[in-house]
Order: sequence, then C-alpha cells, then structure tokens
Amino acid sequence: MAQAGISCDIVVFGGTGDLAMRKLLPALYYLHRDGHLHPDTRILALARAQHSLESYGKLVKRHVSQHVARGDFDVVHWEQFAKRLDYLSLDVSQRVAFPRLTKVLSPGTGRVRVFYLATMPGLFAATVQHLSSVGLVDEHARVVLEKPLGESLETANEINDRIGKVFDETRVFRIDHYLGKEAVQNLLALRFGNALFEPLWRNAHIDHVQISVLESVGVENRGDYYDRAGAMRDMVQNHLLQLLCLVAMEAPVHFEPEAVRNEKLKILEALRPITGMDVQDRTVRGQYGAGQHAGERMPAYYFEKKVDHDSNTETFVALKTEVDNWRWAGVPFYLRTGKCMAQRKSEIVIQFKPVPHRLFPRSGDNPENNRLIISLQPDEGIRLSLMAKSPGRGMGLQNVDLNLDFAAAFTRRRWDAYERLLLDVIEGDATLFMRRDEIEAAWRWVDPIIEGWGDFYRSPKPYAAGSWGPDAADSLLERLGHSWLDPR
Ligand code: NAP
Repeated sequence: MAQAGISCDIVVFGGTGDLAMRKLLPALYYLHRDGHLHPDTRILALARAQHSLESYGKLVKRHVSQHVARGDFDVVHWEQFAKRLDYLSLDVSQRVAFPRLTKVLSPGTGRVRVFYLATMPGLFAATVQHLSSVGLVDEHARVVLEKPLGESLETANEINDRIGKVFDETRVFRIDHYLGKEAVQNLLALRFGNALFEPLWRNAHIDHVQISVLESVGVENRGDYYDRAGAMRDMVQNHLLQLLCLVAMEAPVHFEPEAVRNEKLKILEALRPITGMDVQDRTVRGQYGAGQHAGERMPAYYFEKKVDHDSNTETFVALKTEVDNWRWAGVPFYLRTGKCMAQRKSEIVIQFKPVPHRLFPRSGDNPENNRLIISLQPDEGIRLSLMAKSPGRGMGLQNVDLNLDFAAAFTRRRWDAYERLLLDVIEGDATLFMRRDEIEAAWRWVDPIIEGWGDFYRSPKPYAAGSWGPDAADSLLERLGHSWLDPR
C-alpha cells in the first residue's frame, strides 16, 4: 500500500453534487477503509449550499452507506473517515471568496493538493484562475477535470488554454472513468499480456468490431445537462472513442503515460472523418419515445424533467467508422450508445472472419465465425465463441462459448473505477487520463458529425423506450451483411 505514504488535501468542488455523492465520496470511503489514504489526508468539499460540518457529514453518510456494497459500510470506519471531512460554502465564480480557502489549505506548505472539479465545465477555467490568484497552485497541485470537456473543439480549447496558463499538462488529469474500469484495463492485459491474440488482431483475421455502451435508464434527473449535450458529446466523444483506441492501438513501449497516450492519439488521428453526405450514410441519430422497460412505463424523452418539449437532442447514436492504417484498413468499427435501451450493457465484440474453406456442412443458421466478446458491464468477463461439433450424427457445427467471468475468477472485491483513478491522481500517474491532444483529436472528429446533423436533417429518428434503438441502426450494419450482437 505505497499510496498510504502520500499525505494530501483532496478538494472536491461540487461536493454536494450527484457525482460527488454517488461516486467520489464512496470511492474515498473505500480507499480510507482499505488503508490507501495517509492518516493525514484531508477531504475538503465545496459548493454554494450552506452546510455545517455536521449537516454535510450526515448527507455524506446517507449517500456513502447507500452507494457502497451491502456490508461494506461500518460505523467504526465511517467515524474515522468523517474526521477527514471538511466543508466550505463557496461560489467558485466569485474571486473574492477564495481567500477563505487559503485559511483551510495553507499555501506554501509543499503539501500535495488534488483539486477535483466535479462542477459544470463552464466553471473550470474560473476555478483554476481563482485558485492560482490566491497562491494555491504550486508544483504539488493537480487538477482533475470531469468529462465532457467543452461542447466542441473550440470550447474545449478555450477551457484547456485557460487551464494551461495555470497548470502545466503533466498536472492536468482529464478523467474518463471508463479507463478506470477493471474490465477495460483487462482489455489491455488481454491484448498485450497474452501472445495468443495479437497475431490475429488485424484486418487479415478480423471482420469487424462492435462497441456498444447501452443504458436501460433515461436521463433521470440530469435533463438540463443532457439536453444541451446529447449522446454524441456525452458518450461518443469520450467513452466510446477511448474504448476504440484501446481496441485498435499498437502496443506501447512502456505502460507509462506518454507511451500509452501517444498510441491512443495515433488511432484518433487515423479515424476516417465523417463529413458531408457521409454523415447521413454512416451515422444514425435517435431519440426515445414512450415505451416500457421491465414492465414499467417510460416517458418520451421530451417529457423528461428539465428537457425542452421540442428537443432535437439525440439520446442514441450508431455509426460506422474505419481506422485508416495498415493494421485496420477495411475493418468497419461500429459504435453505438443509447439511453432507454432494452438492456443495460457495455461490450466490445471482435468478430473474426470465417474459415477460408468450409469443410463441414452448414448447421442451421449458426454463424460460423469466431467471436470474442469483452463485457464491461453489468458483468465483467470475456467470452470466446468457438465452433464445435454438434452432438450426434454428422459433422454439423454449433457455437460454444469459452467463458471467463471475472467475478467468479477473482473473489477479491472489484474496485470501482473512481477508486483506482483517485489513487492514480494522488500518486501523479496520468496513464489512464486523457491528454489535451487526445481531447482535441476526438473533438476534431466529432464536430463535423454534429455539424452535419444540423445541415442535413434536424430531427433524430424516434425509437420506443425499452427497444434496441431506431431500425436505421440495424440497416447500417445489414448493408455489409453484419448485425448487432443482441439477444433479440
Ligand atoms: P450536479 O449534481 O449538478 O452537481 C454540481 C455541483 O456543483 C453541486 O455540488 C453544486 O452545488 C456545485 N456548484 C454549481 N455551481 C457552483 C458554483 N458556482 N460554485 C460552487 N459550486 C457550484 O452535477 P454532477 O452530475 O455531479 O456533475 C458534475 C460534473 O461531473 C459535470 O461536469 C458532469 O458532466 C460530470 N460528470 C458527472 C457524472 C455523474 O454521474 N453525475 C458522470 C460523469 C461526469 P451548489 O448548487 O450548492 O453550488
């Protein structure tokens, strides 16, 4: 537990928000409980709301006890954890409020400070400028920025420029919590820790790749944010492109920040642009209407709280892209994300090509291709679909799965992504965080698609809540004889 050696101040801006309550504070509780926080490490939460330390402590206790796994919350650890907590009411847009922060954080002590900005991105630049103006940004300070960073290349650059005036790039941690997921890191282990797959990991053997991040819930209480962002900015620009990078990148020379991020950047730069008429041909944009999920009625998106009744925001995106390099030329990468889908699942499907010459008779409708399925949620695992002989007479083949379920294989508790990533920030390890040029390359690719939607057809295609999305998302694959791997 080397991390326990670093004493630091973790300053959570937006300390009363959804992210802080559901993810950050439960993650910090686990780090404390499992002995990964130095005894002197303090957690200071900030927001505009007025709270006494006692009332804030009660709020955190309620949320932490709800969001850690059953049986993992205990009063002894909670009481020790609560001693680390402090709360300050502060409006980050008001420069005059910041001198109060210096009284709690004492600049000039050489102590590591992690400023976690769990607020709207529009507040990021002002926050870091005000921190700097009161002397709280020194070489030991780090800043964590939540996604999505900006709404376009231009707005992301504005934020990054202003942050770059205060923090040098090595101390900026742009978080994409997908990279903190065990199953996502396992994708790297699978590719670069095994000799088995790498020789096959290329266009000679892989037919196509599917990356799906599907949620069964709607926008819940985040309608005001989501209606401005939409699925492209909320999910594709960050999570889906990062997953694509991990699938497609070359092996880095070292598992170190610059080496890993250089390889990811090469993939983002090799993505075939989708511009002009291609936007219509290669992307599908949808919005959920009323429907049902697990027997429960779900309202149409435009009836959700804080959503504009005439909203054109997409809650679903499917698209086809290619990575224009030697390894991947000619291999379609299909990306798909949506809310109110039939099933919650995040998975990567690597579909291999068929055998060059069929020896055995075709058996029913079985696809005779091998397939590797990497499940990220709700369950984490890897399935390799192989062809085996059907029992009985003849040589008919059928698919059987080699199934690795991580929960069964590793009985130790699986860390939440935020635990791992918070510890990395404390240690100063940026390997699993996005560098500025990655963000820029991702926006450069995404912006023309969003512009194209504005130019060609304004309305997203409707789909029923609880379904698999608009029919057009199926047609996108059918054109090349492919289909989404869904249990329909
Ligand atoms: P949220 O629930 O609306 O919380 C926003 C927080 O910021 C609240 O604590 C709010 O408290 C505080 N705040 C707002 N204006 C402020 C100001 N002027 N000065 C100081 N504090 C202020 O939002 P969220 O869902 O937690 O999301 C926060 C950030 O994380 C966003 O950038 C979002 O895109 C990102 N994110 C969230 C999630 C998630 O699951 N929630 C996931 C990924 C990324 P007061 O109103 O009391 O000031």
